[in-house]
This record gives sequence, C-alpha cells and structure tokens, in this order.
Amino acid sequence: MRTCQETILRRKSRRVMVGSVAIGGGAPISVQSMTNTKTDDVAATLAQIERLHSAGCQIVRVAVPNQNAVAAFAAIKKRSSLPLVADIHFDYRLALAAIDAGADKIRINPGNIGGNDKIQQIVKKAVAARIPIRIGVNSGSLEKDILQQEGGPTAKALVRSALRHIELCRQFGAEDLLLSIKSSGVMETIHAYQMIADKTDVPLHIGLTEAGTVRSGTIKSAVALGVLLYHGIGDTLRVSLTGDPVDEVTVGLTILRSLGLIHQGINLISCPTCGRTEVDLTSIANEIEKRLAGVTKSLTVAVMGCVVNGPGEAKEADIGVACGKNSGILFKRGKIIRKLSADEIVPALIDAIENWQEV
Ligand code: SF4
Repeated sequence: MRTCQETILRRKSRRVMVGSVAIGGGAPISVQSMTNTKTDDVAATLAQIERLHSAGCQIVRVAVPNQNAVAAFAAIKKRSSLPLVADIHFDYRLALAAIDAGADKIRINPGNIGGNDKIQQIVKKAVAARIPIRIGVNSGSLEKDILQQEGGPTAKALVRSALRHIELCRQFGAEDLLLSIKSSGVMETIHAYQMIADKTDVPLHIGLTEAGTVRSGTIKSAVALGVLLYHGIGDTLRVSLTGDPVDEVTVGLTILRSLGLIHQGINLISCPTCGRTEVDLTSIANEIEKRLAGVTKSLTVAVMGCVVNGPGEAKEADIGVACGKNSGILFKRGKIIRKLSADEIVPALIDAIENWQEV
C-alpha cells in the first residue's frame, strides 16, 4: 500500500473526553453525526444510532427540543452504543434535564440561551457532572453588538462571539469545552477557524453547517474540511448533509482517509471509464463501495476498466481487478491470482477483502 510522505502537523489543543472518546490533545480526529429521527421515537433513534455506529461514527448528537425528548433521551442513553450529545437551543432547562438524563456532552449555542445567568446554570451543572460543553457558534445567531460592529456575520464576527463565550464559560468554571464556529459559506468557515486556531487551546469541532444535499454538501465539506485539516486544524468533525446521516459518516471518514489522518477502511481507487471499457465498471465500483462501507481493515482496492492503466494500478493496490471484455484479472499484492468472468468480479473482490491477512 502506498503511504503519504507528508505528515500533517496538528494544532495543539486541550484534551476532553466525550464518554469514552478523547477529543483534542493529539487524539485521533473523531467523526460525529446527528440523528434525524424524532427523538421521541426511541426505537427509531436507537436503530439509526446502531447504523451510524456500524458505519464508523464515534459520537452521536440528538436533538432535545422539548421535555418529551428529554425523557426519550434518557431511554436512548441507557441503550446507545455511542457517546450521546444533547443538542439544546433556547431553553436552558432542557440542558439541565439532559445532563440529569446522562448526556455525555451538551451542545449549546450561548447566543440563543437567553442570558448569562442561564448559561452559568448549564455550565455549573455540566462541571458537576464532569461532562464537556460544546459552544456552537453559528452565523445565524450572532449577538447584535458584534453583528453591528463587524457589519454582518463575517468570519471575524464568528471568532469574536466564540472567544466571548469561551471566556464566559471559563469564568463560570468550565474547563472542558469544545468549540465550533460554523457558517454555510466555505470561505467564511475556513477563515473563521484559521483565525481562531491560535487564539485558544479549546479543541475544535469542525464542519460546514447546512452544507446541502449529499452531492453538493459532500463537495463543499470536503473543500472546507480538507483545507482546515491539511493545516492541522480540527479535533473532531461532522459533515452536515441533507439526507441519511450514515452518508455524513462515510464522507467524514473518506475526508480523513484521503489526508492520511486515519488509515482504517477501504481506500477505493476506480477509473472514470472511457471508450475502452468493456464491462459495467460503474456498477462494480458502486457495489464494492456500498458493501465495504463499514469495513475497518486498512486496504487499497483498485477497480480498473481496461488493460491500459488497469494492471499497473491493480498491481500497486493491495487488491485489484483490471477488467477486459466482460472479464477481469484479480491481483493480490501485485500478483495475478486468477481470471474472472464479469459476474465473478464483485464476489471475488469481496472475498479477497474479507479474507485479507496482513503479512
Ligand atoms: Fe479508460 Fe482504461 Fe483508463 Fe479506465 S483505466 S479510464 S477504461 S483507459
């Protein structure tokens, strides 16, 4: 397998624990998601958490919009296989109740909690419960004075708001903090995180908010998070997509893997196909990607369409197939294993991956 020669130097940050998952202080960058079931529907929410867990998600956030959701949150927490974060807006009492319900972390946007006295109550309770708080600053709910002085929800405005809230939470006794400063704009998000990176040691939760559909949101998130991660910024991430949250996890893991920040999982190489392709390579590559989504083995798998570049790429990969006319040649560790008919390609690749043994 090829390895990246360049190592990303990560920004130094404090370490906090979210349940059993460490964030910051050099811990591996964790991937988070958020359920989009109704929290009241405990069974559906737990089922989605299990799917997220299987896809590689490490921390999951659940909306807690009312008291019914608090009761459901407590039931979900008892059976969740992942550390559970309570997402709170507007009502500080929901944050207090979610902490009592066993939350592993509270996410608040201090700008919409309704005053410093209420923030103080949340902080005191979280400190007593020894759980961290994520300060989630969002371009849609910045303080009026900052908006006026900065002329709108600019990157500088996000940073000023974030620093103000960190200071406030620390005055109230919080040490275990995380910070996100999200905007739906790629450039604003990059600038805001770059500006704040050396102004605080709080671990950074990075992401682009309201990024869009799976297609456009993936692209925008990959650009924004890719730039930040390349510069060592980011201790945990969430990719926000309109759709199945499992896609958020798959995209997040792929971004980390493409920068060499994690190594587990399948690195799938497939050619774009062209007039030389004589097999349904698109279906083969999509099927392989779908079937291997939760695999944690660290492998490079090449699915190539013809004999021009195919054998070269397939040989370089751990496992590869170079296709011909309705057929393929299977490679393992650079050696030809056998010839395959078109129907045998997917099962043979899956079998080779599942039975892969490190030497
Ligand atoms: Fe075309 Fe072959 Fe290149 Fe695939 S590997 S794009 S089939 S030339």
